[in-house]
Amino acid sequence: MKTIGMLGGMSWESTLSYYRALNLGVKGALGGLHSAKILLNSVDFAEIEALQHAGRWDETALILADAAVALETAGADFLMICTNTMHKVAPQIQARIKIPLLHIADATASVLRKDGVKKVGLLGTRFTMEQDFYRERIQAQGIDVIVPDPSARDLVHGVIYEELCLGKINAESKVQFLKIVDALAGAGAEAVILGCTEIALLIQQADTPIPLYDTTAIHAEQAVLFALA
Ligand code: GLU
Repeated sequence: MKTIGMLGGMSWESTLSYYRALNLGVKGALGGLHSAKILLNSVDFAEIEALQHAGRWDETALILADAAVALETAGADFLMICTNTMHKVAPQIQARIKIPLLHIADATASVLRKDGVKKVGLLGTRFTMEQDFYRERIQAQGIDVIVPDPSARDLVHGVIYEELCLGKINAESKVQFLKIVDALAGAGAEAVILGCTEIALLIQQADTPIPLYDTTAIHAEQAVLFALA
């Protein structure tokens, strides 16, 4: 079994989901007391978040690349960046390490393609919904990506940073998110990507008939397959 290098803490609420999913995945595959071999480097999200909102992405890249190098040096066989948003600086991180990086958008796109989804809605931070770094990797697989309108994007972004990353699960926010999912389906989305690793803490597949693609679960599943291959 390969050792998984997790770049976590963004936020630690979703790092918990990853840790659980990776271990359940290995246990499911190997049974008994088997568990995932994991090295975790968990950063202080307050530092990252302040730099994100100041547009100082190069500085986030330096912090995360240093953390990735530490994981490689410690013996990780491959790397997962446990957040969608910070894949914005994935190229700078990959440039500093020799081990492979399991890209969350590629993992998600491959599942969407396998399921025959042609047009998908994307929920995530404003950075993920509005910039190219994420959408273009999904579109490269021949899948159309649509995002909510500007006011809905503001709402989703706010709930991520002011609630979900702080461990707050708010019933009213859940109602709002489900309305936004419905609106995306109304605009032609066959499915919706939960393109932020905390969104599945708020809405789950049981809440809606519209297919949801939880990037945390998909990323973790692919990591388990990769670790055991
Ligand atoms: N975990 C979130 C994501 O998947 C948001 C936190 C961050 O900005 O990294 O995008």
